[in-house]
Amino acid sequence: MFRTATATFLAVSTSFYFLLFTSPPKSYYHSLYISDSLSDNASISHHLYILTRRPHVAGTEANAEAAAYVLSTLTSYNFESHIVSYDVSLTYPVSRSLTLTQPHQDQPITFNLQQEIYDGDPYADVSSEVLPTFHAYAKSGTVTSTVAYANYGRVEDYETLKEMGVNASGTIVLARYGKIYRGDIVQNAFEAGAIGAVIFTDRKDYGGGDSSEGWFPDSKWMPPSGVQVGSVYDGVGDPTTPGWASTEGCERVSEEEVEKEGYVPLIPSLPVSAADGDTIMRSIGGPLANEDWQGCKDGPSYRVGPGPGILNLSYTGKHSISTIQNVIGVIKGAEEPDRFILLGNHRDAWTFGAADPNSGTAALLEVAQRLAKLQKRGWKPRRTIILCNWDAEEYGLIGSTEWVEDNREMLSLRAVAYLNVDIAVAGAGFEASATPQLDELLKKASQQVQDPDNSSQTIYESWIGSGNSPVIERLGGGGSDYAAFVQHLGVASADISYGGGYPVYHSMYDDFIWMQKFGDPMFRRHTAVASIWGLMALALADEEFLPFNYLSYALELQKSSKELEDAVSYKGVKLSPLFKSIEELTKAATGINNERKIYAPSKHNDYGSKSFPGIDDAIEKAKTLNTVESWNIVQHEVWRVSRAIKHVSQVLRGKLT
Ligand SMILES: [Zn+2]
Repeated sequence: MFRTATATFLAVSTSFYFLLFTSPPKSYYHSLYISDSLSDNASISHHLYILTRRPHVAGTEANAEAAAYVLSTLTSYNFESHIVSYDVSLTYPVSRSLTLTQPHQDQPITFNLQQEIYDGDPYADVSSEVLPTFHAYAKSGTVTSTVAYANYGRVEDYETLKEMGVNASGTIVLARYGKIYRGDIVQNAFEAGAIGAVIFTDRKDYGGGDSSEGWFPDSKWMPPSGVQVGSVYDGVGDPTTPGWASTEGCERVSEEEVEKEGYVPLIPSLPVSAADGDTIMRSIGGPLANEDWQGCKDGPSYRVGPGPGILNLSYTGKHSISTIQNVIGVIKGAEEPDRFILLGNHRDAWTFGAADPNSGTAALLEVAQRLAKLQKRGWKPRRTIILCNWDAEEYGLIGSTEWVEDNREMLSLRAVAYLNVDIAVAGAGFEASATPQLDELLKKASQQVQDPDNSSQTIYESWIGSGNSPVIERLGGGGSDYAAFVQHLGVASADISYGGGYPVYHSMYDDFIWMQKFGDPMFRRHTAVASIWGLMALALADEEFLPFNYLSYALELQKSSKELEDAVSYKGVKLSPLFKSIEELTKAATGINNERKIYAPSKHNDYGSKSFPGIDDAIEKAKTLNTVESWNIVQHEVWRVSRAIKHVSQVLRGKLT
């Protein structure tokens, strides 16, 4: 840079002038953002009330209506907003039946599999719109067999069964929810040789245990007829478009191929209530289960079986290509418009979705409202802020994954950070997960916001409790919509919430009344989530130097590598290269190299660089094999490259779908 002294003086005095008379500094807006004058728990509660009036599963008209509500709200704040739709493979229940036959009893018991409406239930009139209880992507089929009880259905539970001399092979497994992903419960049952699986909600874990508090609507606990529904799909994104976006008319793999990939269970399953779980449990004889496998004291004693009770389980689901809607709202950056800070939450719910996920949607709309108020007072973000309201998360993170696949090249070049909120509030206690470079930013934001449950301290103070530092979990697996951002794009991400697990999760009782009575009566926890969420977004959008702390990333890697050393060193594995690279990272502690290799050399021409190496290689192979399958692969490569070219042109046009 070249500049004379006079010019510098002019520049300084000019900016000083603007500072005094027109544009306040960014920090002024950031404190304003969390001030009482801007936050609005009444509008949060109103948004939640509107969003949860009807059950709104992905692919239904009710959820399209909810999308329209989010869109019109964002539009009313003057954000550039639009809906982007995808056609994805979802499943819905067509028929289910569950019958228990017991020796010495003439009449089999046929379970009605209904969640009961409660006294004074304001949603009684729309309760018929709640889907029959089911597992999304469960295998259709009918099975009949004796029942074996497998505790939480973990691998170690089957080991315990084996030690007890119990063989689950050929049985229908009865397992309880609560420790592992339900898809893994079914998969583990399959691997143990079971031909079907029934998963129940144990009163001990979800129904208040041996307390005498009763259940919803008298307390927060799950009623005896309450059922946790959910997906048993083990992948992410539309299973029929693995790795590419489910746009209209796109390439799709068949349902048979999806089964072959191993991401959907190969045995039928059903979720059942605590009451039905109890009834089935009473039909199981055999050895008494261990103490830690038992349920409530006043319930039946749990035995492992198998039998003598015999279950007949029948499930038919239908796959359909359904249209889903993501809602996208954009606040364009004034100085670095091509760098994106993304905030995301899903909208689709298994039932009414008061906690999961619309507490998060209400918080997203609150963030939007406060940012709109800042804009009215002259604030302009340095970078672009994008608000995303995803669809079909519950089926397998489908809306977010398809959008990331659809915009992959642009996002991998421009996305700076992704901040997720799924369930904003399910109870007390702030919780956070993040990729490590965001740890410091999370702590800083929580230090600026008052604890909604104790006005004498900050969230940070209650979060650390008696320790020195808060616990920040890492973003593993496919827990929520951050997965595509972390795993496909490698973008810095965080996920925040109030309260962890909650008893009425994924049941018909996750409604506005539950939230108002037990989850967050004053909606102050919602306000607090909106405050931390927005403060992090403002720092990422406005600070000249991105508030990433890679040193904490390096420290995290150091920690993990030490653990690794303990685990493998006695096997003679050398970890020195790993240590060295982490040391270099610690020294560098800087940005990420986003360079991409677009022109890879073809395997058949190592020195050349062809534009379509994948296709060329497939053709060479197909010429040799000359089978239908090998030429199908060529076709697949053509699709792949077409999509890549489409992505590049999207980047050139600078437009998101
Ligand atoms: Zn959710």
